[in-house]
Amino acid sequence: MVGPESYENYFICDSCGEVIDSPKNGWLEWKDVDLYKYKDFRIVHHSEKCMYKSSGDVSDGPLAEYTNDTGVMRLYEFLKNVDNDEALNNLLEIIKRITIKDYESVRKDEHSAAVHGYIDDLVPGFPSQGDIKAIKRYQEDEAKNI
Ligand SMILES: [Zn+2]
Repeated sequence: MVGPESYENYFICDSCGEVIDSPKNGWLEWKDVDLYKYKDFRIVHHSEKCMYKSSGDVSDGPLAEYTNDTGVMRLYEFLKNVDNDEALNNLLEIIKRITIKDYESVRKDEHSAAVHGYIDDLVPGFPSQGDIKAIKRYQEDEAKNI
């Protein structure tokens, strides 16, 4: 699991696609479908430009509160209360992004790395640490070719 000190420049905003330079500037937000039923989790910049428009069905909190063991346990609790399979997959992705080392920086390139033969994408969305290293090599090679 990644630790708080390694979260600098770690997260990528689900709204604008730019790096969130510190969890202190990040925000976790989601929509309440019903009492204790959730969906549409996102990691975004703590700014009006990126956050959901404030309304009665939006809940949120500082990202930094969800990057420690207490916060991750809260996310596991949320897993019991997701609205449907789509919301389950959405929240699983958020938990992987917070807890699996380097997953955030490679996740969007997993398919391309597999297509280019860097990994065998046997279980898409669940790369091993070896796969993650290989996807990083793919990203470095792609950057050289620009
Ligand atoms: Zn943003």
